[in-house]
Amino acid sequence: MSKVRIDLYSDTHTQPGPAMREAIASAEVGDEQHGTDPTTNLLQDMVAELLGKQAALFLPSGTMCNQIAYRIWCQPGDEIIADVTAHTIHSETGGPAAIAGAMMRTVDGKRGIFTADQIEAALRPSKRNVPRSALVSVENTCNFGGGTVWPVETLQSIFQRTRDVGIKCHMDGARLLNAVVESGTPATDYAATQDSLWIDLSKGLGCPVGAVIAGDSDFIEQAFRLKHLLGGAMRQSGIIAAAGVYALENNVERLAEDHENARHLASRLRDIPGIRLDPETVETNLVFFDVSHTPFTAPEIISRLLEHGIQIGARDDTRMRAVTHLDISRAMVDEAADVLGDILRG
Ligand SMILES: *Cc1c(COP(=O)(O)O)cnc(C)c1O
Repeated sequence: MSKVRIDLYSDTHTQPGPAMREAIASAEVGDEQHGTDPTTNLLQDMVAELLGKQAALFLPSGTMCNQIAYRIWCQPGDEIIADVTAHTIHSETGGPAAIAGAMMRTVDGKRGIFTADQIEAALRPSKRNVPRSALVSVENTCNFGGGTVWPVETLQSIFQRTRDVGIKCHMDGARLLNAVVESGTPATDYAATQDSLWIDLSKGLGCPVGAVIAGDSDFIEQAFRLKHLLGGAMRQSGIIAAAGVYALENNVERLAEDHENARHLASRLRDIPGIRLDPETVETNLVFFDVSHTPFTAPEIISRLLEHGIQIGARDDTRMRAVTHLDISRAMVDEAADVLGDILRG
């Protein structure tokens, strides 16, 4: 296997560049557990302001953000309503059951996006023998839905409905800033429809580690206790928070380039026989495509691409996912498409 030169596997594979490393090296640090790490505090203030929330908390990962929020909003036995594709269901090690003791009730959205009417239908009646609906969890952009962007109006109507029945809303915003840049909807407008939400620093923003969750002060106070409980409280975390500060200042607007490159990749894939884009329309930086009408399975295509130093992932034997990010140029997209075309045309 040759060295990976064109890494379309995930936007988590971004490498910190020289300027980000410089910010990391010169970070002012303190003791995060005692609230005295100035760079972590700065990052938290920036995210609270970005999302228009009272407070924010730096955490080691997006997964911990989701699991802490679920634990705060749910009692054991409660139900969390989410789309069938939700990352929290498929890729977080059963965390909702293990940490919140909650059950996941799925709704079948369109590419991860569901409606207030679907929530209405999924809400439980208040009866002694029935689980209690406690939380609606949305993902923006929706990863396994295809990088899809939620219309803010849909979130507003869901929020209204959850307010009426007294349950909470949480957003997995691993790629929220992709949605913001693509839709032009301000982050604060999205955030206003949620009781808690977070952004990942280690996806398209290009940081080595970290995520930041936001909510009201009481929520963040509880989140800090759980962060400590789960072993996520840190010390001189300014070393990694500095990358987040740098990324928020420099790497947000450029996400538009990733979306352009993803659409370019999609247009190249459409010309390759046997490949079907799924979904057809690429909204942000994730490109999913089906290869069941080619002579190869996804794992076979993956290993052939790797021989050329190109890495692309797959969800299963037929559905592949290519992700654009700050280490992927237009020329790399073209090279990947050329090689993939050659492989599939034999
Ligand atoms: C990556 C991802 C997560 C988990 O984030 P980590 O920082 O890798 O723990 C959660 N939700 C979605 C939609 C993701 O893509």
